[in-house]
Amino acid sequence: MIPGARLILLGRQGAGKGTQCVRISRHFVVPHISTGDILRAAVRERTELGAIAKRVMDAGGLVGDEIMVGLVKERLNRDDARTRGYILDGFPRTVGQAVALDEITASRPIDVVLDLDVPRLLVLERITARRVCRDCGTNYVADHHERSPWICEVCGGEVMQRDDDTTEAINCRLDLYEEQTSPLIEFYGRHGRLAVIDGVGSPDDVFVRLITAVDDARRPG
Ligand code: ADP
Repeated sequence: MIPGARLILLGRQGAGKGTQCVRISRHFVVPHISTGDILRAAVRERTELGAIAKRVMDAGGLVGDEIMVGLVKERLNRDDARTRGYILDGFPRTVGQAVALDEITASRPIDVVLDLDVPRLLVLERITARRVCRDCGTNYVADHHERSPWICEVCGGEVMQRDDDTTEAINCRLDLYEEQTSPLIEFYGRHGRLAVIDGVGSPDDVFVRLITAVDDARRPG
């Protein structure tokens, strides 16, 4: 395994991107850059960006390209990302963001774009059961009867359903994914930088598929 990498993980909401990104970031020793986490932190800190983001996120919409590109550009310019690389989670989400990212990374291009493929029906089930720690972001799966919040095993924070994980907001986000984000599969496919990974299976099996795809893409020759 070669440490360091510049990676993008695409996939529908609920495909398991967040959990897999954490593992990939540890494996290749690169920062995990999640635009959803950056926006949620801004909401918690009640910044100006947070106020804009909260309205959009609760409705299941997308924050504007200009804001998102600015945030990511600033993050990729920090030392850790410049020297080691990164795994991008939740960005790009539109062709406009992908074109801007190509410009930002022109001198150090992305190694491989991974598309974690999970069918829509399956992700709907998974998101409905998703619970997240409000403090550290660890994901949990609730069984059908569990309604009340519980305590995070990692940090002791409160584990809740995300405000934007309502049925309406989820359907809205999945529609937006088909409209705005799925064209990226063709965009990156055309440039020969795409690896489509079957995201159905145990988290361990899917993780092995992902890192194997990265190693294959970076093998010389
Ligand atoms: P999910 O993939 O489940 O929608 P994320 O944590 O990736 O969750 O994002 C949560 C919300 O943050 C999105 O629904 C959207 O409103 C906003 N967001 C995150 N990343 C982007 C992005 N690249 N462009 C526009 N909006 C974004």
